[in-house]
Amino acid sequence: MHVIKTVSELKQCLTAFKNISFVPTMGNLHAGHMALFEEAYKKSEGVVFSIFINRIQFNDSNDFINYPRTLANDVSLIKKKFPSAIIFHPEENELYFNHSPKEFALGKVVEDLCGRSRPGHFQGVATIIDIFLAMINPKYLFLGKKDYQQLCVIENFCKIYYPHVTVIPIRTIRDANNLALSSRNNLLKDKTKAANLYKILLQASQAIKSLSDIQQQTKLAKEQLVKENWQIDYVEVRTQKKLTHPKDNDKELIILAAVYCEKIRLIDNIEFCIE
Ligand code: AMP
Repeated sequence: MHVIKTVSELKQCLTAFKNISFVPTMGNLHAGHMALFEEAYKKSEGVVFSIFINRIQFNDSNDFINYPRTLANDVSLIKKKFPSAIIFHPEENELYFNHSPKEFALGKVVEDLCGRSRPGHFQGVATIIDIFLAMINPKYLFLGKKDYQQLCVIENFCKIYYPHVTVIPIRTIRDANNLALSSRNNLLKDKTKAANLYKILLQASQAIKSLSDIQQQTKLAKEQLVKENWQIDYVEVRTQKKLTHPKDNDKELIILAAVYCEKIRLIDNIEFCIE
């Protein structure tokens, strides 16, 4: 297994492979990341996992500072499960150096949902994905549905800027109580309580599936979240993929939420279809 820190070393290592799968992460790996890694190996022999905490996608500097950093554990976890993996763990100056900031055409969707309270976040994500894709030139890019808006934004970004890259979405992996796994969960004291986010979203999605009113159900979900003493960023029902406001004939929907639980920002979503 290789842990690579420089771009030149990475490029050299990648010459051995025809097709490359790429899985970007910020480390503090858990079973959600592992699911992406497993799927990546089904597609190609050359798999690059990046571990890089992308400062420019954080709009809260405390969030960046407190983000869990567990490189030694991450590396030994990957070593056990994927001994032939290429781990790319660059220093900031290896990536941002030489790259003047670009403004990508990401559409209005980046001003909505998470983008409303995290201005610039998706430009920051697109910037690092652009740097990585240009460097690695993968055939496949693996992203989790856990960060559903990010997935939609990057799918769109790839269609415009990297049409030869296929984005492969991976379902959300959850713990026994259905709390979506996240590196931020390690900062929570009560994970069982945090799992109520999923329960509340599931109830609302099931009611909407049974043709209950969307407005009424999102209002009810918000009331339940307030009872948990959580601060709500948003609870919204949208169309899958485009994340537009649903019209009467839209059947493939998704409920998405972001809340602050013990001051930790949690996001989750559930896709559902109206028959
Ligand atoms: P992160 O390290 O949080 O930036 O996540 C790296 C990738 O793993 C992103 O594509 C995430 O959407 C994905 N991911 C994070 N948590 C999960 C999860 N619980 N299930 C599936 N994918 C996930």
